[in-house]
Amino acid sequence: METIKPGSKVEIETTDKKFTGILMERPQLADDKHIVIKLGSGYNIGIKKEKIKNMKEIKEGRKKEEFKLKEHKIDPEKPTISILATGGTIASRLDYLTGGVHSAFTAEELISAVPELEEIANIRGRQIFNKFSENIQPRDWIKIAEETAKEIRKGIDGVVITHGTDTMHYTSAALAFMLKTPVPVVLTGAQRSSDRGSSDAAMNLINSAFTAANGNFSEICIVMHGEMSDSYSLIHPATRVRKLHSSRRDAFQTVNSKPIGKVENKKIEYTERETKPRGGELKLDTKLEEKVFLLKYHPGLIPGIIEKLIDMEYRGIVIEGTGLGHTSEILFDSIKEAIDSGITIAMTSQTLYGRVNMNVYSTGRVLLDLGVIPCEDMLPETAFVKLMFVLGHTKDPEKVEEMMLTNYAGEITERSIPWPP
Ligand code: GLU
Repeated sequence: METIKPGSKVEIETTDKKFTGILMERPQLADDKHIVIKLGSGYNIGIKKEKIKNMKEIKEGRKKEEFKLKEHKIDPEKPTISILATGGTIASRLDYLTGGVHSAFTAEELISAVPELEEIANIRGRQIFNKFSENIQPRDWIKIAEETAKEIRKGIDGVVITHGTDTMHYTSAALAFMLKTPVPVVLTGAQRSSDRGSSDAAMNLINSAFTAANGNFSEICIVMHGEMSDSYSLIHPATRVRKLHSSRRDAFQTVNSKPIGKVENKKIEYTERETKPRGGELKLDTKLEEKVFLLKYHPGLIPGIIEKLIDMEYRGIVIEGTGLGHTSEILFDSIKEAIDSGITIAMTSQTLYGRVNMNVYSTGRVLLDLGVIPCEDMLPETAFVKLMFVLGHTKDPEKVEEMMLTNYAGEITERSIPWPP
């Protein structure tokens, strides 16, 4: 049993069950009383050695030390995509075949770690920077947009951007406002690295590459696991997606709208959501006003916070209000003062689903009279990024309001989806 090489496919008979899977090299989650195998679902399990009656090799795997860079053969018949790495869990440790740890940024590294990529497309790969996404700042969105535009100008068929998951939906919204693209631009990440049980890195990358190479739309989107097992991924529209779970592989969900489609086994099934077809001109517009604040209203919030933001010369505040778009009346005077001093205040709802409607209750009507902009069904994070973009282009209050209420990148829809989603 000890002579079977990690990476080999094995069949294990225990005292109560039979398992088939890939023998993992680094059983980090187990002690020496266990072995770890990766099941077909993508999950790793530990099996107690004393329970194993028989273990046989079905297919020999390569050893970690055999991991060498595979030469990438360019096939003119295949589409070409660029994979740009920005950091996060997906940035390294992609060798899911053996559980080995390797960085994966160049085309050769990516293909050696995830050989399926070569079947999908000719790959170009490079690293833009290496940051956990909690460290990504608005200037990094600009860098990502510029580097993506550079790749698109080379005439490729799609772009994949690998990114930490924590703030990936801010980046997707920022790219959606800054970049008009003629090809699909897919952001993807991983909740768990491949030396851990149930890594989602490989499938996310494969399905993202397939979407970038073959998607019949030209939008920014996020492609991540659609459910817990390695079955399918969902293609989420850039401005309507959110990380809704801290650890599950299907943490990303389209909110208040429909996904663009589903990718499974090299096939994309589209929903009825309208998309922009491939083609058109590339446009890059990265002007942003960074002094925008996202303020979550909560019972007990003191008006002094808004006064502080005025003192700090903030130019915009997006409020995550309650219900239909409300705050306590104790904030009204400070909100008026902020608007009078030229600060834009926009209202979203912390309910996430449904839409802001400030005409129903007197609280909403007072806020509207003060000049608060109701952000329809925009997600708070999307409205926050959009206000940065809008204020980067104009400070004229009427124009700001008009732009905030115009749909530029699918962030506002006429009708919200039925409930429950
Ligand atoms: N928190 C880090 C990030 O968002 C690592 C986890 C991940 O890649 O999702 O970059």
